[in-house]
Parts: sequence; C-alpha cells; structure tokens
Amino acid sequence: MDQNFQEELTQIIKFKPPLHKQRHQFVKDLVEKYKPKKVADLGCADCSLLRMLKFCSCIEVLAGLDICANVMQEKMHTLSPLPVDYLQPSERSLTVTLHHGSVAHKDPCMLGFDLVTCIELIEHLEEPELKKFPEVVFGFMAPSIVVISTPNSEFNPLLPGVMLHRHPDHKFEWNQAQFQSWALETARCYDYSVEFTGVGHPPTGMEKAGFCTQIGVFIRKYPRTGESVQSEKPTEAVYKTVFKAVYPSLKDEKYLQNAVISEVIFTAQIIKHHFMSKHQEYGDDPERKSKFQPSMDCFSDCLGKLVVEKNMEPFVSGNEVYIPLATIFSFPKVNRLCGTFEKLCKLIAGKVTLSSDGSAVMFSIEHENEEN
Ligand code: SAH
Repeated sequence: MDQNFQEELTQIIKFKPPLHKQRHQFVKDLVEKYKPKKVADLGCADCSLLRMLKFCSCIEVLAGLDICANVMQEKMHTLSPLPVDYLQPSERSLTVTLHHGSVAHKDPCMLGFDLVTCIELIEHLEEPELKKFPEVVFGFMAPSIVVISTPNSEFNPLLPGVMLHRHPDHKFEWNQAQFQSWALETARCYDYSVEFTGVGHPPTGMEKAGFCTQIGVFIRKYPRTGESVQSEKPTEAVYKTVFKAVYPSLKDEKYLQNAVISEVIFTAQIIKHHFMSKHQEYGDDPERKSKFQPSMDCFSDCLGKLVVEKNMEPFVSGNEVYIPLATIFSFPKVNRLCGTFEKLCKLIAGKVTLSSDGSAVMFSIEHENEEN
C-alpha cells in the first residue's frame, strides 16, 4: 500500500463520531422508533449505553447485566437521580437496575422486556456460553426486539494495528457470512425475523468489506402471551442485584402532591398579584372596584380568557384576598397535573390555606403590604 493511500485510509477510518458512540446512537434511534418501555442491556460494561438511554422518555424500566461487577460498579453512581430530578420530578416513572451475572444463565428478573441490546457482547463469550446465549435471550427472555452488534472481521485489514482480533478478550470475530448464518439460524429457531445493518462505513471502493460493526436487528414474529410468560417460566434467581434507583416521578402520589401544592401556590400568587395591582389602581372607581382586569403582560391573555365566569373572579373580604380554586384549576399546568378538580381538592387539602367553604385559596392582604 503506498503511503498516501494509507494516510487517506487512516483518515477515513477515524470514525466520526467514534464507533462506540455510533453503536449507542443506533440503539437510541431504534428506541425512538419502537418506543419500548422496558429495555435490558446485556454486557453493559461501564453502563454508558444505559446512561444515554435513561433520557429516552418512553423508557420506564432500564436494566443492565454484566459478568464483571467491578466494571459496572465503577460508574454506576452516574445512574442515580440528580437533585434536579427531585426538584422537578418527571411525569414518567423510571427504575434503573444493575445485575451481576452471565447471559448464559436464566434469571426471572430478565423477563418482560421489550428490547434487549447486546452491543459488542457475543465475541466475548466462550463457546459453551455462546451456545446457551440464544436460548436465554430469544427463548427465555423473548423480548419483541433484540439488537446484536459484533465486529466484522472483513473490516480488520483496514484497521491499523489489528492483527488477529480487535480486543485481546475477543474469543472470535466473525465475517459477514458467519454472523449472518448464525443470526438467521437463531432467528429461525426462535421465530424471529432478522435484518442486517451496521455502523462504520467502509471507505469508497471497499464496500465489499461491509460495515466495521455488523448489527442484526431481530423482531419477534409471534405476539406476547401477556402475564402467562412469567408464570410459564418458573426459574430461580441467580443474578445478584448490585444497583437499583427509583427515579422520583409524578406517578408517585407523594411527588405529585408536592408538585401540585407548589404549582397551586405559584399560580395563586400570580393571580393575586394581578388582581391586587388592578384593585389598587381602580380602587376609587366603584364600577371597576374588585373586578379582575388583566393587563397586557405575559399572563394577561391566559387570565383574560380563563376568568370569564363571575364565580371565578378573585375577591377581597376584610383583610383577605380569595383566589377561587376553579380559576387556579383552569391554568394548563395545574389542570394537567391534577386531571380532575376533585383530585386538586384532595391533593391540597390541609396543605394550602383555603376559604371556610374550601372553594378558594386565601391570602392575607396585610401580609402582601408588608412584602411590598
Ligand atoms: N456493551 C458495551 C461493551 C461491551 S464489552 C458497550 O456497548 O460499550 C463486553 C462486556 O460483556 C464486558 O463488560 C464483559 O464483562 C461482558 N461479558 C462478557 N461475558 C459475559 C457474560 N457471559 N455475561 C454477561 N456479560 C458478559
């Protein structure tokens, strides 16, 4: 190979983004396409794919499995919820779990997944493990989709410095025909279809080499049998759970209540602020006194449209200003959080100061004056 060509090649095969990122992006794109709720990553190593997938809003259950506990545990803390997750709990629920064990063994914690990813895993398996792998993944776990990626050995001559295998722990590296015949046979055996693709394009003129990383996407042909799946497959737990994080979610009544209380007080304060400024402005005009007259600021459109009915108008009585709950409930965010007016009343009961009949949030005007 002349030097110019070699330099050109070295430039081409410096994948951008790096190949490992392209593989993870491939999985992310697949998640965005099929919207699985439960995803398991087998051979998750340092959990980098899981870290990326936790931001996919369709996913409610994420699990990782690896035979090496140390590599998983090194960065598993990065899968824990952040302070912001507690300050603004998400609408979806999310549980992330890491298990220590082998893909050659069945464990009931791996049942019920929609998508199972095996990124650069199979080439690390010893022959007896590779033999058991299809029965565990396709027979036992039987998710709707399985993604398997593995190096394409036909690309190796194009990679500088690769002699036998790309990594010393690789037990084998298959060419395209080897991978495809294994995948087609596995798919046939467990009633899946499989399509082949990859990441890391070959240089122009060398298309025959195929993708640097070959990928098989397997889709289960038969429908899920529902609850029976788990009961039909009694198996003893063999994996050890090494990490579990339950993310704060508005599906949890405790976080929903906090979010609703904050939103109700915030909304009521805004309405009160508008009302009081108008109340003071038109204080001497008997026609306009106590009427809610939104001005032209950012909230006025919303308020103007919503405060249409008499019983939704704020009012003053004595030293108190009252903001009807019906008005607060009309605000989109409060409405979306609570769903029903009854739920709003239930969530704020005893937590927000209300009028004696419970129909309005009550604020002291004196307190308002002090604040100003
Ligand atoms: N999936 C990762 C990297 C995979 S490297 C990524 O996308 O970056 C292969 C991983 O498989 C290693 O972490 C290794 O510990 C794990 N592994 C090897 N044999 C295994 C087995 N029998 N069961 C589960 N994990 C295994």
